[in-house]
Amino acid sequence: MIYMDYAATTPVHPRVIEAMVPYFREAFGNPSSVHRLGQKAEAALERARETVASVLNCRPDEVVFTSCGTESDNLALRGAMLAARKNNRNWLLTTRAEHPAVTKTAQQLEKEFGTLLEWIPVDSNGMVTEDAMRGAVCNATALASVMLANNEVGTINPVADLAQIGHSHGIIFHTDAVQAAAYLDVDVQKLGVDLLSLGGHKFYGPKGVGALYIKKGTEIAPHITGGGQEFNFRAGTQNVPYIVGFAEALRLAKEEREERTAHVKPLRDQIIGRVLEEIPDSRLTGHPEQRLPQHASFVFKDVDGNLLLQMLDAAGFACSSGSACKTGNPEPSEVMSAIGLSREWGLGSLRITLGMDSTAEHVDSFLRTLPNLIANARKLNHR
Ligand code: PLP
Repeated sequence: MIYMDYAATTPVHPRVIEAMVPYFREAFGNPSSVHRLGQKAEAALERARETVASVLNCRPDEVVFTSCGTESDNLALRGAMLAARKNNRNWLLTTRAEHPAVTKTAQQLEKEFGTLLEWIPVDSNGMVTEDAMRGAVCNATALASVMLANNEVGTINPVADLAQIGHSHGIIFHTDAVQAAAYLDVDVQKLGVDLLSLGGHKFYGPKGVGALYIKKGTEIAPHITGGGQEFNFRAGTQNVPYIVGFAEALRLAKEEREERTAHVKPLRDQIIGRVLEEIPDSRLTGHPEQRLPQHASFVFKDVDGNLLLQMLDAAGFACSSGSACKTGNPEPSEVMSAIGLSREWGLGSLRITLGMDSTAEHVDSFLRTLPNLIANARKLNHR
């Protein structure tokens, strides 16, 4: 099987596994316990927090560990919107191109608490422009949530500029950096954001662990109440081995960023160039330049994307048709509709995301296989 679905998840880096193992075995204590085993776990937890803080360029007490990127997004949106109710700010701005961890949470807040929801339009590349942000924000806005990089189409948003516009109206700005952290700088000072979500399994860390940066002074209602862990934002005994792994993976992602980018980008460019050249009725989705370096995404007219994925799987390639969470959905994804694609194009989406183990041979073999599979998928579509 040739794995080309690194945006869905990554394998855990061997150095990350090595860092985690002691905290399953000899240093298994509860970080809240007073005895030495507890202290050892607490020290590891706090070292991990410092590591994450140094990558994010923030204070350690601004890093809250969670169970995943989805939970980080939930804490950001729910926490900020519930806290803002007392300030008479009840508008939440976001986009239809966000991950469901944001869009579904926003819709749930609308249902549960009467949050007023406004969708900032994205352009045909899936990008939120400064003009779109200016047109949406007002002084009754509590929070804007715009992702740093899009999971389905790979587009990188101008988050620093958007956050600045938001702040001129006194709003809180959240960015979902779950996809971005593997390749982009997630320095929160440079980005100028108040809240930033991360998930470990997108950058060679373990699944089931994430983090939310919460800028000091940002009003956030607690999310899970209990024993007061994670500065009272998110109670529950911390998953020390996974948090240690998360921090090590994030540190390595920063340390090796240039090397990893230099490895995947030429392979990605080859895929984009040859697919567009060799496959009729194909289009790149997402921004041609402002996109994640490992990310190639396309739509093919009159192709059933799910069928294409099955054909690719049978031929030995693991790819995706967009978000990993959307299997079995016969409609084009929300993102395909948000960027203005009709059904005949939007249903035929394909995402190829590369990683450290991708090789020129993998890409070559994929490019030799894909045109025939598309032709066959089209024949089946016309039956
Ligand atoms: N946000 C984005 C942009 C994602 O791509 C994903 C996962 O695909 C998530 C959030 C959810 O992260 P997790 O799988 O850690 O819950």
